[in-house]
Amino acid sequence: MAKKPLDPKNWHPATLAIHGLGRLPKAHHAVSTPILQTSNYYFDTADEVEDFMRSKGQGKVTREHEYARYGNPTQQECERKLAAIEGAERSVLYSSGMAAVLLALMTFMKREGHIIFTGDCYRQTRDFAMNFLSKFDVLFSIVDPTAEAIEAAVRPETNIIFTESPTNPYLRILDIPAIVKVAKARNIMTIIDATLATPYNIKPIEMGVDIVIHSATKYLGGHNDLMAGLALGSNALMTDLYKMQRMIGATPGPFTCFLLERGLKTFGMRMEQHNKAGLAVAKMLEAHPKIEKVWYPGLESHPDYAIAKEQMKGNGSVISFLVRGGNTETRKFIDALDLFLITPSLGGSESLVTQMWTMSFFDYPEAYRKDIGMVDNLVRLALGLEDEADLIADLQQALDTI
Ligand SMILES: *Cc1c(COP(=O)(O)O)cnc(C)c1O
Repeated sequence: MAKKPLDPKNWHPATLAIHGLGRLPKAHHAVSTPILQTSNYYFDTADEVEDFMRSKGQGKVTREHEYARYGNPTQQECERKLAAIEGAERSVLYSSGMAAVLLALMTFMKREGHIIFTGDCYRQTRDFAMNFLSKFDVLFSIVDPTAEAIEAAVRPETNIIFTESPTNPYLRILDIPAIVKVAKARNIMTIIDATLATPYNIKPIEMGVDIVIHSATKYLGGHNDLMAGLALGSNALMTDLYKMQRMIGATPGPFTCFLLERGLKTFGMRMEQHNKAGLAVAKMLEAHPKIEKVWYPGLESHPDYAIAKEQMKGNGSVISFLVRGGNTETRKFIDALDLFLITPSLGGSESLVTQMWTMSFFDYPEAYRKDIGMVDNLVRLALGLEDEADLIADLQQALDTI
């Protein structure tokens, strides 16, 4: 007797992260997706090659794989699940988050077009804009991360609004429906890098955003052990992105995709813990006399608390704050921490700490660095999956040393 069909439409993100929108047949009835470590896939006959090529032209491919730059089965399985969690028609998986950011921009930017970026953005995205866009005669503005500032920056030639939410390190939350309204009225494409939110905490596509980007190196992979990125959106837009992907070859390898698929199996429960620990630690820091100021969107003191409450299911586990004092006190505190590793990145199982100005912005001129908020006593925590009581105790003992 055949099994009854599955009905995934009411499944929650944690379930979609494990099953996608249903099960596909797998070799040998394997439960996890086997790694196919191969660079090419053979055909049985010369005719089969011709049939395959013809079928591609007709948009009805007769088989899935031919050459590994174009993708691999583990990648496809991840793409299917990630699209299901995000509520997108399709996703394209890349070998890093930055590959997703750059290839989305390069696919859709136009000569003499204008791109609006929001400030407090990922360092490498900012550097791409500042150092490379002029080579392609693409204009850009970097504006405050608010819908008002974006609207004010729109010009007749603006064709892309590229935002992040939450931003990094100040965790500003953008009013996405307001930005989408501005964009739609003028036929501008919206792209959002929602790495810090994840599809667990925010659903930009439901709010009308055209393309969502994530660094899967962070919460989606979740274990500080892989690099990957993805773009999600409509079939039409993803087809354009996939064409660029095939050419450039920023394709994640099968083992990376295996790790990502494995990480996704605990995505729901990991995000619950990240959200819970993030709020608990942010509250503890805000109440601490050695801390000058804390930025966490789940705190009422955060400038975008109201938008976050409206838009976000939770606020993740990145917290930024100013230590009372200067460079010396800040470093003393960081060095006194036991559980937090001094390293960039976020969203994995180990808790991480960075003094922002040295880690990500060291080579910027001092005045510019301070202008974009990278002051000496700014610290960013990215909580891992340790028990938050242990993290709080560690932070308290380290603060006691200054
Ligand atoms: C880490 C990160 C990226 C870059 O992703 P990689 O996987 O490191 O290439 C882009 N945007 C944001 C917001 C990030 O946190």
